[in-house]
Amino acid sequence: MNNHDWMQRDLKHVWHPCTQMQDHETLPIVPIQRGEGVWLHDFEGKRYLDAVSSWWVNLFGHANPRINAALKQQLDTLEHVILAGFTHAPVIELSEKLVALAPPGLTRCFYGDNGSAATEIALKMSLHFWRNTGKPEKTRFICLESGYHGETLGSLSVTDIPLFSATYAPLLKEHLRAPSPDCSRRAEGESWESHSRRQFQHMEQLLEQHHHEVCAVIVEPLVQGAAGMKMYHPIYLTLLREACDRFGVHLIADEIAVGFGRTGTLFACEQAGITPDFLCLSKGLTAGYLPMSVVMTTEAVYEAFYDRYETLKGFLHSHSYTGNALATRAALASLEIFESDNVLANNRVLAQVMADALAPLADHPNVLEVRQTGMIAAVEFVQDKSTRTPFDWRERRGLQLFEHALGKGVLLRPIGNVLYFIPPYVITPDEIRFMVATAAEALDHATRPGATPGGGTTLAIP
Ligand SMILES: *Cc1c(COP(=O)(O)O)cnc(C)c1O
Repeated sequence: MNNHDWMQRDLKHVWHPCTQMQDHETLPIVPIQRGEGVWLHDFEGKRYLDAVSSWWVNLFGHANPRINAALKQQLDTLEHVILAGFTHAPVIELSEKLVALAPPGLTRCFYGDNGSAATEIALKMSLHFWRNTGKPEKTRFICLESGYHGETLGSLSVTDIPLFSATYAPLLKEHLRAPSPDCSRRAEGESWESHSRRQFQHMEQLLEQHHHEVCAVIVEPLVQGAAGMKMYHPIYLTLLREACDRFGVHLIADEIAVGFGRTGTLFACEQAGITPDFLCLSKGLTAGYLPMSVVMTTEAVYEAFYDRYETLKGFLHSHSYTGNALATRAALASLEIFESDNVLANNRVLAQVMADALAPLADHPNVLEVRQTGMIAAVEFVQDKSTRTPFDWRERRGLQLFEHALGKGVLLRPIGNVLYFIPPYVITPDEIRFMVATAAEALDHATRPGATPGGGTTLAIP
């Protein structure tokens, strides 16, 4: 069967995520037969460089031989066992490793099966902690404008992306929102640090006014991914940690996207020298192999749930697949690669190659900003640079960019008018240059005057 046949079968029964399915009357679904390293291969011998790590999850390439071997062995030993009342070697070993690697003081690991679940767990644990310690009046959370923490109802309540949340407003609880520290909005000539400090004042005011009713502040450290890779300075996190302590409020660091080396350090919080009360991890946790998440927290939180007589003081949250043996084994194999291959040091070299390749784009007539934090880079494009006027969303320039790049063999997935790169760490310098050159060409194509949706791009797929 060729690409077209698979696509026809797909469209009969598969309902795709985050998609207006009608788009696929003109835009093809790309059926992937196999993956190898940074490359995805379709059914007709064409390959695509996975510049988005398949929604930011993949770390060491597709079908990584070392992770595959670990999983095959685990599969023949134990695929899964209930984690209430039972345990197994990989979940114990992984918890030990995570505690050793995470910011100091995070000694307890609670497992979930996806990122949104990790957010739910952190929100519930924080509220429950305050209840157990005699502060039941604390029931609200502070989140950031442009923040993203998942799309289940609890996590969507602290997400600030109207495209995902507005429709479901009747089901969502109202929380408090502080302005984003997003440095792309800093004043002309202002440093990232100064802007982040200035934006923090709003957060401080909110904490001052509401701390008695607030359980926790939840943020994505350093990069607000889903809002279009909005970035900010670590000083914001340092100030936030200090203020949360001062006001008696928890800090939840959602490192679901930025954890495991994406920002240059293993965890983004390290750059601010802080330990959050809750650290949410998923996506790269299993190197992109299997769905799993973990919420790491402190002894102080753990102890508030520990009680001889009251079952209800315990955290009774559960997921069927909690601590799955295959997923924890994949995570262990991934952490072994970090150790043996000196990944963070190697990534510093790759990040510089990416910066050098992207630098000329800053002068592009439609590029407002090129920004980067470690292995995450973004290019924000506009219709008019001098007035910062964005393209009309109905022109769907991002979609045109996607189509053009795909035709040339690179999988990019712009968010609105932000083109971004989050490649797997096994990408080579030559592949980075190919990825950026292709993106630059696609950007030229998509920003040219009069470009229209479905504007005559020929894809490999009919
Ligand atoms: C992806 C993401 C989530 C949600 O994870 P899912 O596994 O998609 O539910 C939450 N927070 C951040 C920062 C994310 O990037």
